[in-house]
Amino acid sequence: MEKLIAGAKKLGLQLNPRQIEQFSIYYQELIDWNQRMNLTAIIDYEEVQIKHFLDSLTVILAFPQPIKEDLHIIDIGTGAGLPGVPLKIVLPQIRLILLDATIKKAKFLHHLKQKLGLDDIEIVVGRAEEIAHQTQYRERFDIVLSRAVAGLPTLVELALPFCTIGGRFIAQKKAGVDSEISEAAKAIDTLGGRLRETKRINLEELGEERWLVIIEKILPTPS
Ligand code: SAH
Repeated sequence: MEKLIAGAKKLGLQLNPRQIEQFSIYYQELIDWNQRMNLTAIIDYEEVQIKHFLDSLTVILAFPQPIKEDLHIIDIGTGAGLPGVPLKIVLPQIRLILLDATIKKAKFLHHLKQKLGLDDIEIVVGRAEEIAHQTQYRERFDIVLSRAVAGLPTLVELALPFCTIGGRFIAQKKAGVDSEISEAAKAIDTLGGRLRETKRINLEELGEERWLVIIEKILPTPS
């Protein structure tokens, strides 16, 4: 996990031996289950460390500082647990919901949770646009995450209903983020959001331009 350890350090994260072991187990389980179901196209040991694990951890740069330990976080369309599970490994106190539309992925996530010995993870199967109408999930989360699920206008529509007022949705984006933001402007406004900041990630390991789009929830989302 040398690549991950070095990259995480640049994010201000000193991984302890337990966390390094958890990332190692995560890698092994991902590769093992990937032989039987389609979880990831990235399987190379070093690439997984950078493109999955380190990339997931970058969202921490957009968290309100100092980071509150008991943050309530939802990861929409989490797939194999990204970015939620790497975050949970480095911030074990967070309360995390992993949401995905497919049962098969949920099965992997239950297995992974047990293998990693992680508490306070709830795995929910369903479509974001339906789950967001259930009162126990609507406007309940300090931080909403969603990686590689849709373009920003759609993402905002899926994510902002989950966000508590004063909470934030953090989108991970590549180059060309400005045009995505202008396309999403109306959706952001309609759903009760406000663009707070776009933050460039300076981490040469990632090998390409990466941005975090931080959208604050300032008003309730209309039902
Ligand atoms: N976030 C992961 C997976 C991205 S693939 C990663 O970065 O690797 C997109 C995932 O989103 C798939 O697992 C798919 O099942 C899920 N998904 C797509 N639309 C969804 C929706 N409307 N609600 C819930 N999950 C959705």
